[in-house]
Amino acid sequence: MDRRFFLEAATVASASSLLTSRQLLAELAPTNGDDIWDLHCHFSGVVGETPADRVEKIVEYADRMAIHRLIFFMGWPWSTAPKPDEFRRQNDQVLDALSKWGHRIFGFAYLNGHHPEESLAEIERCVAEGPMIGVKLWVARKCSEEALDPIIKRCGELQAAIYQHTWLKTQGNGPGESTPMDLAILAARHPNVPIICGHTGGDWTRGIRAVRAAKNVSIGIGGSEPTAGFVEMAVRELGAERVIYGSDAGGRSFSSQLAKVYGAEISEAGRRQILGGNLRRMLTPILRSKGVNV
Ligand SMILES: [Zn+2]
Repeated sequence: MDRRFFLEAATVASASSLLTSRQLLAELAPTNGDDIWDLHCHFSGVVGETPADRVEKIVEYADRMAIHRLIFFMGWPWSTAPKPDEFRRQNDQVLDALSKWGHRIFGFAYLNGHHPEESLAEIERCVAEGPMIGVKLWVARKCSEEALDPIIKRCGELQAAIYQHTWLKTQGNGPGESTPMDLAILAARHPNVPIICGHTGGDWTRGIRAVRAAKNVSIGIGGSEPTAGFVEMAVRELGAERVIYGSDAGGRSFSSQLAKVYGAEISEAGRRQILGGNLRRMLTPILRSKGVNV
């Protein structure tokens, strides 16, 4: 049934280019009732002068797949170890897009663990006093380092989401690139703060096991090949309530990343949690605090 729906949705999407996005959503939503939230989007893979222009194109694609809400973080060009001026500039790009797209999209603030003071100030600017609802940490500094603790603590106070990239590279990680094992160390120091293990370490068979005992860790499943068995193992080992759909668009297609979920042999209830329920639950307090109706 799930696989069939995916094919039907894809067919409808390609055949319905004359329908508006709103019509398409209305057409798809009653079919399966999924309220899809995408944890992980960037301004990449499309052209456009401004962030809002790029979002317009990405949302056009998201509409085809009936994705309801999209979370964006980082601007362009990619900067693996941004100085404070640079992460502030990239967060301004996200803020600009947010100001033009209402509540269809949300934003996380990009930070650099090598600049904890400036990162904390950026949390105040973008999250506490601004519209953003989480933070993104990439590959600048290993997340196991205690220098990141004030960032995690402040996010916990604000109930802001924490997305930490993780990977397990065959050729070895970059010097500041975290593994899921690093994330488990961080999570153990902050047992009451929810943290998202980005990419599930890429090598998800090891990533899932690395964070299994850390009950405050959820996994982001975006940004890797749509391999059969990934989501089934995640649900078996962590429970569906700790698994969150995201795409890493435009580096990855929505369809390939949704396929991980729609192609998985899991319950309908589990599928709904993964596609949107978990993220909605995690973000509802901070969204409500900002007056967003969820
Ligand atoms: Zn990404």
